[in-house]
Amino acid sequence: MRFEIITIFPGFFAGIFEHGIVRRAQAEGLVGIGLHDLRAFTHDRHRTVDDRPFGGGEGMVLKPEPLAEALTSLGIEAKRDEKQVRFAQDDTRKVNETRVVMLSAQGRRFTQAVARDLAGLERVVLICGRYEGVDERINELYCDMELSIGDYVLSGGELAAAVVLDSTMRLIPGVLGNEASGEFESFGAHDASITAGEAGVPRSQHGSGGLLDYPHYTRPAEFRGRTAPEVLLNGDHQQIRRWRREQQLRKTLANRPDLLEHALLSDEDRRTIDGIQSAQVPKSRPVPPNS
Ligand code: SAM
Repeated sequence: MRFEIITIFPGFFAGIFEHGIVRRAQAEGLVGIGLHDLRAFTHDRHRTVDDRPFGGGEGMVLKPEPLAEALTSLGIEAKRDEKQVRFAQDDTRKVNETRVVMLSAQGRRFTQAVARDLAGLERVVLICGRYEGVDERINELYCDMELSIGDYVLSGGELAAAVVLDSTMRLIPGVLGNEASGEFESFGAHDASITAGEAGVPRSQHGSGGLLDYPHYTRPAEFRGRTAPEVLLNGDHQQIRRWRREQQLRKTLANRPDLLEHALLSDEDRRTIDGIQSAQVPKSRPVPPNS
C-alpha cells in the first residue's frame, strides 16, 4: 500500500516515519510513503501557496492551483462535476483503489473502522491543510472524503496525516507480527468468538469485538506495593481469557459506554455487564428518623 502526503512542511515527517513499525513496514516493502512539497508546484518567485480569503476574515487560505497541480502529478484528475463519483463501483482499474483524503476539522470522524477501509486500498493521498484551511474547490473537485481525527483544531493537517497513516498501515496484512493482532486491540472488529488455540491466536486472548482493550501487566509481579492480578500469573488460559474479557467490559463501561451500542456481545458478556452495573448501583441511604 502507498501513502502520498501533500504538505507545505515535508520536513515535519522526518523522524515520525523512521521509527518502529512504520519504518519496518517500509523497509519490508509493505508500505511506501511519498512526501510532496506543495511549494514545488508553485511558479512564482516567492513560491506562494496561500492567499487572503474571499469575503474577508482572519488568516490565509491554501490556494487551489498548486494543490491541483500536485494531485495531477500523482495521476489524479478532477471530477467532471460535483456529483460525479470518481471511482465507480464497477471501475476495476488500479486507480479505483486510490482515495484522496482532505484532513479537516470539518470532516467525518476518523475511526478504526475507517482505518480498516483505507487499509484495503492500493493508495491513499492525504492533503494537509494549513492556515484557515484549503480552498473548498479542491475538496469538491478532487477529494473522496474529509477526515477529522477528533473534535479539536490542529494548526495543520500534518499530525492528522501521521495519525491516519500510522493507524491504517498497522492493519495491512503482514505489518504486525501476528496477522490477527489488530483484532485483539481496542476497537478490533472481530467478534468475541475467536476460539482458544485457533491458528495464530494466543490461547488467552479474545477478539475485542469493538470494545476497549483490557489492562496489561509485565514484570515485576509486585511494583510499589501493587501486585499484578493473580489470575495472570497462574497459567490457566481459560481463566485469563475470562478475566480479560471482564476487564474489557469494565474499561468500556467506565470510559466509553457509547461503544457498547455496536459491540459484539455474547450472552455471557451481557450477564457480566449486568453484574458490573448492579454492583455499582449506590445503596440507598437509610432515611434518617424525624427528630
Ligand atoms: N478553519 C478551520 C476550521 O475551523 O475548521 C481550521 C483550520 S486548521 C487551523 C488548519 C488545518 O489543520 C486544516 O486545514 C486541516 O488540514 C488541519 N486540521 C485541523 N484540525 C484537524 C482535525 N481535527 N482533523 C484533521 N485535520 C485537522
